[in-house]
Amino acid sequence: MATAHAHCWFLTLAPLLLRCIGQAAIALGCGIGLTVVAWPAPRLGTTAMAADGLLSLANAGAPASANAGAPAPASVHLPGAPVVGCGPKGVALQVLGSGGPELQDKRASTSYLIWRAGVPRVLIDSGGGSALRFGQSGATLSNVDVILLTHLHVDHTADLAALVKSSFFEDRHRKLPLYGPDGNQFFPSTTRFIQTLFASSDGAYRYLGNFLNPNATDSYLLDAHNVVPAAHEVQQIYDSQGTRILATTVVHGSVPAIAYRVELDNVSIAFSGDTDGNNGNLERLAHNVNLFIAHNAVPEGASGVERSLHMPPSVIGTIASAAAVKQLVLSHRMLRTLGHETESRAAIRKSYAGPVMFADDLQCFQVLP
Ligand SMILES: [Zn+2]
Repeated sequence: MATAHAHCWFLTLAPLLLRCIGQAAIALGCGIGLTVVAWPAPRLGTTAMAADGLLSLANAGAPASANAGAPAPASVHLPGAPVVGCGPKGVALQVLGSGGPELQDKRASTSYLIWRAGVPRVLIDSGGGSALRFGQSGATLSNVDVILLTHLHVDHTADLAALVKSSFFEDRHRKLPLYGPDGNQFFPSTTRFIQTLFASSDGAYRYLGNFLNPNATDSYLLDAHNVVPAAHEVQQIYDSQGTRILATTVVHGSVPAIAYRVELDNVSIAFSGDTDGNNGNLERLAHNVNLFIAHNAVPEGASGVERSLHMPPSVIGTIASAAAVKQLVLSHRMLRTLGHETESRAAIRKSYAGPVMFADDLQCFQVLP
């Protein structure tokens, strides 16, 4: 087996570096002065754990990481330490897919996984390539409590069927709730989308029809729901086993789109999804969250269709500031924004003073109260 890779982002060097390594050894990361901690981003093409228990804190992740100011990599032996997901403690957000629709960005398309005490609990989106990342993370769908879809574009949903099929080989019997937007003339509703995939009568993958059959004994029920908040409502859609989920409508051109806020264990994470950021709902949904995941799909100065679909960095900064989010992570990175991190950060800095980080595939952010 290959060596594990992990990295933390630091504000200072040697003393804090040593402290971070120690904390990483107990899967807490380097939380000095921060409420969210980034840690393992396994280097693509390697697996997570060495046979001898060597955990390397090498600077991993995608090439040309945009998290400028990160220290030189270090490594440490952690005999016997399991490396699954984001470690065994607390709440962590793992980025399964940090890219957009373009395959040339060499990133999986959008997907995020929330880990709680080492167990994957909430999956948000499942874009192309993210099913492989899901497997690489060590997660199994049998542990996931709920799936949230922000909208039904390919780069947010294409691997859903792969995840469901994979779970056929797991031992799950409790139903799996799945939430997503309602439909319109251009897109099916989420319930219709799931029927289109799996309905035993006429679904594309009708051979998996038992996932929609409440009486099937050799499967579980994929229980789809349409989320239909009023125009400016922040609606609670889920409350179970200490996890509370809120949703609101966002504008993504003509595409029905939902942003989510997930609360568990005294921390909160908000997901913008794809949106132009202009309807005022994100500010309320993300109020005071510990971590805000915003989509960096267009550069500052974007216009036309690009701008009508997505938030430029200055808008992200304005929303992050108005919502007083504790930390900001930029994801959904595309060829038109990769390499523009310095100017994107500068545009955000004009209104938002908190920590700003750029996501890479498989990167973890420990979320602290
Ligand atoms: Zn997208």
